[in-house]
Amino acid sequence: MKFGGTSMAGTERIRRVANIVRRQQAAGHEVAVVVSAMAGETDRLVNFCREANPLYDPAEYDVVVAAGEQITSGLLALTLQALGCKARSWLGWQVPIHTDTAHAKARITDIDAQAMMDSMAAGEIAVIPGFQGIADDGRVATLGRGGSDTSAVAVAAAVKADRCDIYTDVDGVYTTDPRIVAKARKLKAVTFEEMLELASVGSKVLQTRSVSLAMKEGVRVQVLSSFVDDDAPLADDLPGTLIVSDEELEGLDMESQLVTGIAADKNEAKVILTRVPDRPGAVASVFTPLAAANINVDMIIQNVGREKGETDVTFTVPSADLVRTQALLEEAKPSIGFNRIITDPKVAKISIVGVGMRSHAGIASTMFKSLADRGINIQAISTSEIKVSVLIDEDETELAVRILHTAYGLDVNDEAA
Ligand code: ADP
Ligand code: ASP
Ligand code: MG
Repeated sequence: MKFGGTSMAGTERIRRVANIVRRQQAAGHEVAVVVSAMAGETDRLVNFCREANPLYDPAEYDVVVAAGEQITSGLLALTLQALGCKARSWLGWQVPIHTDTAHAKARITDIDAQAMMDSMAAGEIAVIPGFQGIADDGRVATLGRGGSDTSAVAVAAAVKADRCDIYTDVDGVYTTDPRIVAKARKLKAVTFEEMLELASVGSKVLQTRSVSLAMKEGVRVQVLSSFVDDDAPLADDLPGTLIVSDEELEGLDMESQLVTGIAADKNEAKVILTRVPDRPGAVASVFTPLAAANINVDMIIQNVGREKGETDVTFTVPSADLVRTQALLEEAKPSIGFNRIITDPKVAKISIVGVGMRSHAGIASTMFKSLADRGINIQAISTSEIKVSVLIDEDETELAVRILHTAYGLDVNDEAA
């Protein structure tokens, strides 16, 4: 069981969480619980680091930001004890959850869960702070923002759990963010692949890495709400959204949609390099320095030559990397040989995702036409086997998501049932 930041925000919320955990154990399960820091706490700790030293050492940053989860894990163990349950916390180094040394964005390499499993078998509830582990250098490490989801899936795999229930502040995965589109519809199930695409293009309900780990380890994941009455149906009744393999989804016999979900991401920025020489190696000279600096380039278009022997190159990078990108390109200007850099941080990437795209034509053209009909201009396009993304003006984000949600028949009142 994993509980996110809003679920853990304060002692009253933690009491509700403890009650859900207690009921789950009373239903005959051994339980391990992974917790996030209280909502807003990690942001607060990150800010302290920035204030202390803008060029902070990632290993010391980890010492600071891992603290939020240490507090909530202890508080949940205490609250469970107050309810008469046996419970104890297991910090990252105590389990231990081993990670690599990429501080602030570490990857879990191995979990030795034996001692914790022995304690669980003896009836003790294990409470584990998410987001943290112990790196190979012997120091505390964190897994990147939103990383408690990944901790939960990794612990579930390590203890060979029947299921990994991710409790949050919405009651499942929806066709799009239900806080933005009121007509969003809750999905009974979604495939690992679709969830992976949705998470990577901006549906922050699950951290992307947690989904790829669940897919690799075959962990069944359910997303559900912790904001429920004390006598609500148990998680075993599967009230939330299941993330499952293709085969299991077929078994669930759901009405299939061409598009499963829509996501928006405002955290990308557009870069245009004008008048890049149109010759072999020119594009490589643009992207090699960015790759070397670990900057992830997403959408790319190379326009048709504007004048003889020249072309414009347009691409997107994470907004947080825009300043560095500009600096690196200016530095490489003599070897690339472009004319100007034009940047625009006010763009949004809107993506539609669905396995139906594999077998049906015309899904992308519906997207382009629906947006065009409402005067929304598309600045760049990228696709994968089960996804189409377009780049638009950031001010039109919510409108575009609503238009597409309706165009693909996803609005909740369209539901046949
Ligand atoms: P937690 O603190 O529990 O980890 P998050 O804030 O990380 O919670 O994730 C839950 C939020 O994800 C929801 O409040 C919702 O606004 C957002 N969200 C974005 N896309 C979706 C979606 N397709 N379905 C459900 N929630 C979504
Ligand atoms: N508290 C961490 C964060 O906000 C990890 C998490 O909640 O998943 O990123
Ligand atoms: Mg989260």
